[in-house]
Amino acid sequence: MLTLTNLTVTAGGKQILKKINHVFERGKVYAIMGPNGSGKSTLAYTLMGSPVYTIESGSITMKHNNKKVKLNSLTPHERAQQGLFLSFQNPLSLQGIRVGQLLQLACAGAISALELRKKIQALAQELHIRPDLLERSLNDGASGGERKKMEVLQAGVLNKPVQIYDEIDTGVDIDALKQIGVFLNRRRKDKVYIIITHYYRVLEHISPHEVIIMMDGNIVKTGGAQLAQHIENNGYVNV
Ligand code: ADP
Ligand code: MG
Repeated sequence: MLTLTNLTVTAGGKQILKKINHVFERGKVYAIMGPNGSGKSTLAYTLMGSPVYTIESGSITMKHNNKKVKLNSLTPHERAQQGLFLSFQNPLSLQGIRVGQLLQLACAGAISALELRKKIQALAQELHIRPDLLERSLNDGASGGERKKMEVLQAGVLNKPVQIYDEIDTGVDIDALKQIGVFLNRRRKDKVYIIITHYYRVLEHISPHEVIIMMDGNIVKTGGAQLAQHIENNGYVNV
């Protein structure tokens, strides 16, 4: 569904991703692990079309509803229209805009304001998000874990076929991680989940079909869920 072919990416004049090849298939969950600075976020941002990163060569293509589209030169909002969603490693706060207002814009009339409100409330309840967070400016004064939940809430409303979660577990306590994992697991059918994580813990709730290890801008190893457990126990030495 999402295919990376010889993807080489630079930022600030430095080559970061080096000829990456991978196929992400519909209905499968992928975990990406790797030491700090290995290029995980760069991959996530490049997929979503951040202007900070330049594709020097190679391609990103997506096949959805029997339509094949090359994403390389599309803007982030065009990629979202094609079916991509990115949850940030460090979600920012946005003054003066509530999550409902943001989602209303993103949904662009596809759902009525009342229905959207009900949906947000239901998903927030499922994720154990405090109602007052919905009424404040997005992520205003929110903790790291609350911000991650707000990202997952937005993913739940937008319901895109390809969902990328950068460091889903950073700043998230064990209970919240379980709530996020269970939430995503319930909705995994027919989706591609790309979950960037440092720990096995979240994968206990959403078991990956494939674990991808990145180092120094390359994919150096792939394996099953047990590879993630091996990394958690032994680190990246001798991978
Ligand atoms: P990870 O998410 O795996 O920790 P990143 O993708 O954030 O790694 O970073 C990979 C490498 O690319 C690091 O060495 C980082 O310093 C570098 N890098 C990331 N973004 C930029 C940028 N905008 N300009 C220059 N170097 C960058
Ligand atoms: Mg990162």
